[in-house]
Amino acid sequence: MSYDAPLLFIDGCWLPVDGRDTSPVINPATEEVLAHLPHASPADLDRALEAARRGYALWRKTSAYDRARLLRRAAELVRERVEHIATLLTLEEGKVLAEARLEVLAAADNIDWCAEEGRRSYGRIIPPRADGSRYLVLREPIGPVAAFSPWNFPATTPTRKIAAALAAGCSCIIKPSEETPATCLAIARAFDDAGLPKGVLNVVFGVPAEISTRLIASDVIRKISFTGSTAVGKQLAGLAATGAKRATMELGGHGPVIVFDDAAVDEAARLTIAGKFRNAGQVCAAPTRFFVHSSIHDRFVDRVSELANELVVGNGLDPATQMGPLANPRRMAAMDRLIGDALDRGARLAAGGGRIGNRGFFWQPTVLTDVPMAAQIMSEEPFGPVILTRRFDDFDTVIAEANGLAYALAAYAFTTSVRTATAVADALECGLVGINTYAINVPETPFGGVKESGYGSEGGTEGLDAYLSTKFVHQA
Ligand code: NAD
Repeated sequence: MSYDAPLLFIDGCWLPVDGRDTSPVINPATEEVLAHLPHASPADLDRALEAARRGYALWRKTSAYDRARLLRRAAELVRERVEHIATLLTLEEGKVLAEARLEVLAAADNIDWCAEEGRRSYGRIIPPRADGSRYLVLREPIGPVAAFSPWNFPATTPTRKIAAALAAGCSCIIKPSEETPATCLAIARAFDDAGLPKGVLNVVFGVPAEISTRLIASDVIRKISFTGSTAVGKQLAGLAATGAKRATMELGGHGPVIVFDDAAVDEAARLTIAGKFRNAGQVCAAPTRFFVHSSIHDRFVDRVSELANELVVGNGLDPATQMGPLANPRRMAAMDRLIGDALDRGARLAAGGGRIGNRGFFWQPTVLTDVPMAAQIMSEEPFGPVILTRRFDDFDTVIAEANGLAYALAAYAFTTSVRTATAVADALECGLVGINTYAINVPETPFGGVKESGYGSEGGTEGLDAYLSTKFVHQA
């Protein structure tokens, strides 16, 4: 299986290792080294900043119509290359190839959505106070963007940032995860091949804190977009605030799921397997804390445990595989620690619970039931293939428990009552709610959290707004 040698992409040039520092890229299914990733030197970063400054000056003057045409061409190239890009994604991140294909196609859909939406960044005309004058509200690109994306969705997360920035007329320097570089580089290649002027998009790698500190401090950068952990998000938000720079923060989650007594239990269990174990649970909006009505708790647990035990775990390139490995050894250590702590505190193991084999970062789909609220895993984001259940009897108590964390990204409920659906959607404190579904993320809808899950939205019209500033003009 061929893996593209990762490069830096700065000012329209593809730059190899050539004496730069490097870090290895590891295949999580085999633990083999796929490639050595070049790290951008301080001089490379300065070159990227200068390129982004020049790229912005050119790109903001390119018409929204022409920007949209170029973005649509890039989306087509991504679709034409789906097999190649999806294979890179599975090799470096581990998820099963079928999921990787869907992710790459979703990235192309994101580019298309942003291309179209960029043509509709309408301003407005406000009735003036004096005859013959005009009050105009103009929407303008905010300026060069520094974006940072993690390893769990190497295609959609960087693409959502790049496409929205470019559609709005901004230039962008992105630092994708050093652990999954080739997917984003292949998408950047599609923009390059579509004819994007040099400097408008730049892709760099290195020591994350060094890169973010240097880029965010630069006068060139006007907007920050970060997806990753709450801890890092808070640091970057602080750096952005120092320069009074706008920021979008898409941080961690710890999704509660409330399964009411009138839920279609088998259907909820079937959807839960697909919703929880995709990407081995390494999803910020993953369903995690399951509050199940006492009258159906055991039935629900039996069904999800049975289905979890049937999942085929293996190398994502094998067509028989239904769940791939964890993406890195940090996740295995976290699973081991968090599950051990929960069991010590009295949780019951209904499925899985341990590592599979000793090569590759494979972990069993796991179901822990009657997990005490004091267990670390009930408040620390597990970011892995673990379902946690608790029983509940009344609405107010379960809402209080569901809303009880600082994380507030996605929340879910299963019920056949419209009245309950409305009440629970209103009561949940979070940015995203799924009722009888885990599908809460498509390009045309806003995605983002509240509380310590961050601020700002990606996707939807809100996603483009994040890269626009507002100018009022009074023409007397
Ligand atoms: P981490 O916090 O070290 O890194 C998360 C991501 O942020 C990585 O891609 C990393 O390269 C980047 N990063 C780290 N420090 C940075 C800095 N100073 N400047 C810019 N980027 C920086 O953690 P990790 O071990 O990779 O993942 C652990 C936790 O991160 C998970 O448990 C989960 O809570 C969270 N996470 C969230 C998402 C998400 O989609 N919101 C994605 C990946 C990880």
